[in-house]
Amino acid sequence: DTIKVGDFAERIKKPASEIIKKLILSGVMASINHEITFEVAEKIAEQYGILLEKEEKKDKKEVLINDFEDKEEDLKPRPPVVTVMGHVDHGKTSLLDCIRHSRVTESEAGGITQHIGAYTVDIDDNKIVFLDTPGHEAFTAMRSRGAQATDIAVLVVAADDGVMPQTIEAINHAKAAKVPIIVAINKIDKNGANPDRVKQELTEYGLIPEDWGGDTICVPVSAKTKEGIDNLLEMILLVAEMQELKANPDRPAKGIIIEAKLDKGRGPVATVLVQKGTLHIGDAIVAGTAYGKVRAMIDDKGRKVKSASPSIPVEVLGLSEVPNAGDILYCVEDDKKARQIAEINQEKQRVEYFESTSKVSLEDLYSQIREGKVKELNIIVKADVQGSVEALKQSLEKISNEEIRVRVIHGGVGAITETDVSLASASNAIIIGFNVRPDSMARQAAEREKVDIKTYRIIYEAIDDVTAAMKGMLEPEY
Ligand code: GDP
Repeated sequence: DTIKVGDFAERIKKPASEIIKKLILSGVMASINHEITFEVAEKIAEQYGILLEKEEKKDKKEVLINDFEDKEEDLKPRPPVVTVMGHVDHGKTSLLDCIRHSRVTESEAGGITQHIGAYTVDIDDNKIVFLDTPGHEAFTAMRSRGAQATDIAVLVVAADDGVMPQTIEAINHAKAAKVPIIVAINKIDKNGANPDRVKQELTEYGLIPEDWGGDTICVPVSAKTKEGIDNLLEMILLVAEMQELKANPDRPAKGIIIEAKLDKGRGPVATVLVQKGTLHIGDAIVAGTAYGKVRAMIDDKGRKVKSASPSIPVEVLGLSEVPNAGDILYCVEDDKKARQIAEINQEKQRVEYFESTSKVSLEDLYSQIREGKVKELNIIVKADVQGSVEALKQSLEKISNEEIRVRVIHGGVGAITETDVSLASASNAIIIGFNVRPDSMARQAAEREKVDIKTYRIIYEAIDDVTAAMKGMLEPEY
């Protein structure tokens, strides 16, 4: 009853080097060809939150991970999930409200709309799902937990104000997540609205409007007069169609928790966005350390529903505790298994808390390049003036070599904030501050998320450090 370390690594899709490290930490000296027992493998798998099962067949055990890949022929089209991002006061909330209300059909008009964190609108035979917590904080928080809920980002830019710092942040967050961006140029009803100026400014950030020969769709809208809203929805459907979004509805459900709370009367309530399969009443479920049976489901119109298919958000009742936004929900065979996995997740959280996850840092960069773990060094640059941001960005990107590409994924003026840290965490980036420091929230977040922050007062010192780190010649810091 043994398995080679290398085979085991392949089965659970984790790097062998990491497993060997974990084995050594638990007192088993092992190499890649070393045979380990099922019991030892089980302990290691637990640290990844993977449940191992022995398969009696042919004396060989099989690793069972309940998140299997679907066959191409089982996939069916699913609605797109959209997040609205942009600078404060540019009209994200107004736009979300306007879309929601402009699309209420006769039969629903009497119904109570429920704020469950996401809602669905019908456009003829198609659906679009909007996550209704505007802004990119939620978006990035989920991504740093390894979950991606969004297919399309709608970037709201006020036509009378133009591209602002949070607009740039939103662009970079969407780009880092490789999510297509549709620009909604809002407030076109206002005096002083200048959509062309907005388009001009967007080109500076790599978003070239379609009518200027690029591939960024820009839709002029007004959340106040509703002008252009139908056009925006059409464009979303168009982009969704090009993405060919699909999922298998006929399998045990997998979803993502987008919001959760403790309700006085109903107990833990979690909004789940189903990503694969269909969730049914009575299903045994687990999300992080919470587990239970689906007791009831309520949709965004306040109706009780019996099932939820891919992309459809529903409130789920019946979990043992309140899960975290970003936790992945799985439907499993029975309550016993749900509970078992929740316990493993609890152990995993404990382990993760003590063990640093393998985030990049300048100190470890060289060994991570050697192990093939890092091919791109993502950097976030913050500085006191725009000129320094640009200078650093250009010099840093120039030191890319054939082994590693240096990429500045975000640059901005001002102190290093918690948002910078969460973007860094989600994108496995380091942060370089020039004449600026992290604020206290950012410092705490960096410690928690193990994000490397380096601050400098001289540009060439920053360049030297990164160059040295790439060659494994950085002096360790004490
Ligand atoms: P958010 O911070 O991005 O969510 O922005 P809000 O939706 O709260 O909007 C900020 C302000 O702009 C509010 O006073 C809205 O009434 C106003 N506003 C939003 N959209 C429009 C629009 O299309 N036209 C006009 N004139 N005002 C708008």
